Amino acid sequence: PEPNDRLLVFLKTGIYLFESSKTVFIDPVRILTRSYTRFRVSPSAYYSRFFNSIADHSTETHNNCSGNLKKRKRNKKKEKSHNLNQREQIADQRHQEVRSMLLKAHEALLKSSELLEIVKNLRNVGCDEERYETNVISQDRELDFVEVGSVWQAPLYEITLNFHQDEMMVKNAGFPPFQFCKQRVVPVFNTLVANEGSSDMEAEFLNHRFIVPKNSCFYMSDLGKIHNLIPAESDCGFNLIVIDPPWENSSAHQKLKYQTLPNRYFLSLPIKQLTHTAGSLVALWVTNREKLRSFVENELFPKWGVKYAATFYWLKVKADGLLISELDLFHHRPYECVILGYCHRADMNSQHQLRLNHVPDDQVFISVPGDYSRKPPIGELLLDYVPGFRPARCIELFSREMIAGWTSWGNEPLHFQDSRYFLTK
Ligand code: SAM
Repeated sequence: PEPNDRLLVFLKTGIYLFESSKTVFIDPVRILTRSYTRFRVSPSAYYSRFFNSIADHSTETHNNCSGNLKKRKRNKKKEKSHNLNQREQIADQRHQEVRSMLLKAHEALLKSSELLEIVKNLRNVGCDEERYETNVISQDRELDFVEVGSVWQAPLYEITLNFHQDEMMVKNAGFPPFQFCKQRVVPVFNTLVANEGSSDMEAEFLNHRFIVPKNSCFYMSDLGKIHNLIPAESDCGFNLIVIDPPWENSSAHQKLKYQTLPNRYFLSLPIKQLTHTAGSLVALWVTNREKLRSFVENELFPKWGVKYAATFYWLKVKADGLLISELDLFHHRPYECVILGYCHRADMNSQHQLRLNHVPDDQVFISVPGDYSRKPPIGELLLDYVPGFRPARCIELFSREMIAGWTSWGNEPLHFQDSRYFLTK
């Protein structure tokens, strides 16, 4: 497509394909909004960082005092001078191998002045519109599901689901307006909660309101209960499994945001049992630590029965299109990796085997990051490589949000579904 057509597609879908098909720019707000019928994701709530210099310093680097900034500069100097140990050398080698490819991808963005102009304003789209008004008392504090889920009463907690009936359908059937909503109350933890309708559902829990996209479900539990998601029939398993584990990290900041788990816990994730008879594409987010990369390659994927296929890269830019940090900064790379692999079951049905597009290596997707540790929705960019029939059956593990057509599992899959992150359409 011509550049103008590409821009039009971007404005509609949130996905901009550069001429080199290996690079895309994405706007998660536009992508996620396609999951909703009556709501849209609030750009100003999504883009909480990188759009304003004051916020950048307080949230991303949490170096809001000049002393810390100085320390950072000192560390940078130290980084240059210190000799890399063996593991760091391997990490550096990995970096050198992808460096020019990442620079090329970034150059493509910097050359697209019309796209850059839109990127600059991503946060302002419709910002003059009112935030979604809840008739539930508006809460200043976000609900901490991990805390609520850990008390003895947790199994008793219930969520109220307000299903929205399709207006046309109701009108045609001649129902009066007060019957537009159907209500159901179900346990919020350790239960598969589904919105099977073709319209958004609003849910209420502990005085907070949540927006649940059409055709989606969540299971909120601790890791110990994940086996409840294993389908009785393997052809009800999943074709795409996206995983963003709470890897342990030396960052003190991260420890405050969510619990992390030692690597050995992830070895027992039942990836094979969650896989559909037609097989699954597994997409695993990893950090740039070499210890983790080698753990995934040598222990985790073999234990899960996943065969490595390719690595994709998420390049992080600010509103002005520049990288969020220097590309060569050893401990603060402006990119993260997604490792892709295939999982096949022993009982695989050969008639399910579709001709799959070969996963290209080194695909780059560029976006402005949202909240701390929030990953862009990449499911759609992977669909070409997903085995099985369409629509593909998709699941996200350790999820903090929901997407139409997906199952979300984790101990806080409703986190970003809080009505504070939405506007009415
Ligand atoms: N992909 C998410 C996003 O884009 O927002 C971020 C996921 S974050 C890296 C990891 C998640 O795992 C956090 O929500 C954390 O609360 C959750 N988690 C940590 N320990 C867990 C456990 N034992 N069981 C279930 N979820 C857990």
